[in-house]
Amino acid sequence: MIQKGHIGVTTDNIFPIIKKFLYSDHEIFLREIVSNAVDATQKMKTLADVGDFKGDLGDLSVRVAIDKEKKTLTISDRGIGMSAEEVDKYINQIALSSANDFLDKYKDSANAIIGHFGLGFYSSFMVSKRVEIVTKSHREGDDAVKWSCDGSPEFTMERVEKADRGTDIILYIDEEFEQYLEEHTIESLLKKYCKFLPVPIVFGKKKEWKEGKEVATDDDNVINHTEPLWRKQPAGLKEEDYLEFYRDLYPLSMTEEPLFWIHLNVDYPFHLTGILYFPKIKSNLDLQRNKIQLYSNQVFVTDSVEGIVPEFLTLLHGVIDSPDIPLNVSRSYLQSDNNVKKISNHITKKVADKLEELFKNDRARYEEKWESLSLFVIYGMLSEERFSDRGLKFSLLTNIEGKQFTLDEYKTLVEGSQKNKEKEIIYLYADDKEKQYVAIEAAKEKGYDVLLMDGQLDVHWMGLLEQKLETTRFVRVDSDTIEHIIEKEDAATVALTDKQKEALTEAVKALLPTIEKTEFSVDFKALGEGGRPLQVTQNEFSRRMKEMAAMQQQMAFYGEMPDTYQLVVNVNDPRMKVLIEESEKQEKETLVEQVKNNQQLKQIVDLALLSNGMLKGEALSNFVKRGFEMI
Ligand code: ADP
Repeated sequence: MIQKGHIGVTTDNIFPIIKKFLYSDHEIFLREIVSNAVDATQKMKTLADVGDFKGDLGDLSVRVAIDKEKKTLTISDRGIGMSAEEVDKYINQIALSSANDFLDKYKDSANAIIGHFGLGFYSSFMVSKRVEIVTKSHREGDDAVKWSCDGSPEFTMERVEKADRGTDIILYIDEEFEQYLEEHTIESLLKKYCKFLPVPIVFGKKKEWKEGKEVATDDDNVINHTEPLWRKQPAGLKEEDYLEFYRDLYPLSMTEEPLFWIHLNVDYPFHLTGILYFPKIKSNLDLQRNKIQLYSNQVFVTDSVEGIVPEFLTLLHGVIDSPDIPLNVSRSYLQSDNNVKKISNHITKKVADKLEELFKNDRARYEEKWESLSLFVIYGMLSEERFSDRGLKFSLLTNIEGKQFTLDEYKTLVEGSQKNKEKEIIYLYADDKEKQYVAIEAAKEKGYDVLLMDGQLDVHWMGLLEQKLETTRFVRVDSDTIEHIIEKEDAATVALTDKQKEALTEAVKALLPTIEKTEFSVDFKALGEGGRPLQVTQNEFSRRMKEMAAMQQQMAFYGEMPDTYQLVVNVNDPRMKVLIEESEKQEKETLVEQVKNNQQLKQIVDLALLSNGMLKGEALSNFVKRGFEMI
């Protein structure tokens, strides 16, 4: 024995504490130990590269092996290894003394512990009752040494024989954690954390089916791809390479090919590589979230990136790799980390650059993909201030005919004809081509253009665009009579007394069939003799408030309120004129009784409702019957 010592931990036994606090995440021990082995191997390669090591590097694979009888899990490398002094320095003094600091610092705040303590080698004690290190330095003449510690602060160190340079970390797995002696558990953990490590990670032998049985072959079962696509130079890569990598990343869940991708390759002011894929998305915002995988130097960190990258980017798929992303830390720590913030801002910028480039270089293709892209772009504009101004450049508006325009192009198209007397440009839109057909036709007759705004986020988006574009207002085609939506001159005055208006309002309402959760108010306008006698409109502002409320929980009460519509009476219409004349002569009650039996007026009201798709069920059937009777 060359040394026997006491790790300077103040508490008698630190390991139960670690096990308890890190319980939920104890599987990361494997990532830590394998990463250390990979680091030691990389250092070995570097020494050989610079000529400081002249010998034979040999096989540099890191090997992971289970011994079910001894109940051990061993991770072996042929890296630089450690001398006895190095074990003392790096393991006893640094690795284990960090445990000491950790206890001192966080003994009062259990929650703060996770996420601030870099676990490293020490995490092996989360699942082991004893850990041994058998290591031999690459320097000639150094003896191999075995370090052993049973989870108490006592450790031993002794000289041993070891043929090869490098390190074996032997974990005597605790009974409680026997799943880590199962092949499939270890294999899936290795695939999760080590899939792209730069040194081959070997776990047993490849298997094949022979005569109905699975048998081991002579070939090593290599877990990882040592040169993942994102680390390669984009110039040498083909479209198929990206698609293949995509399928490799998401073997089970993805059936649809991505729309396109961005290969990130940044050296300054931080290191960042990665590939982000734009998936085909139609509607469900939650569908494919949490698909981006975060790596630090090819070591998997996490795939739940909310709060780490901007919300809208969580709709993307792919990989982000940066050594500046800290390992071993909690989500809340990652979220507040300055490097992570910079990285995430940078990615936002790159995504905007790419979209703009795509739009400029291949507009036809961009237009084709807009249906899928729009949700992403609009979501980005709504949720990320820095993205919203950039997004104005590559946002497209689509009209009823399916023609697409940039915001500038659309302004040029309509500013001549759709300016009202207040000099506002009115962008007319429909969100349901069929239901709003009549209103759309009325707008077209005037020579106006109508946009189609039927996307999930369009109501919010229009609100944003109204803020960004000066003197522009979005108004749904059926929110008023078209003459009033784009009012060119002061409206012709309607000469009705208050008493008349009151009587007429009641009379018109009495003609309405009952429609659930719907309220009507009556309005009088002079729309000329050719204008329709009666129209149903819905106020833009209140309707939009309701639609927005439906998407936001805290405003749910808005959504519960009844829909309100306006019945617009054209006072110039000959049939309405008759009614107005009656209202001069009669008392309110008599007028109401009289209209109730007026088949023609009933038909006019129903026709107005029908034009808006609001006549249904019994009311519709009555309308049809009455129609036949009248012919
Ligand atoms: P970190 O890796 O963050 O430095 P660790 O606690 O994981 O912290 O490891 C402490 C040190 O022990 C490492 O920095 C390294 O010098 C040494 N070490 C750990 N594992 C190995 C290994 N497999 N081969 C050589 N040295 C190792």
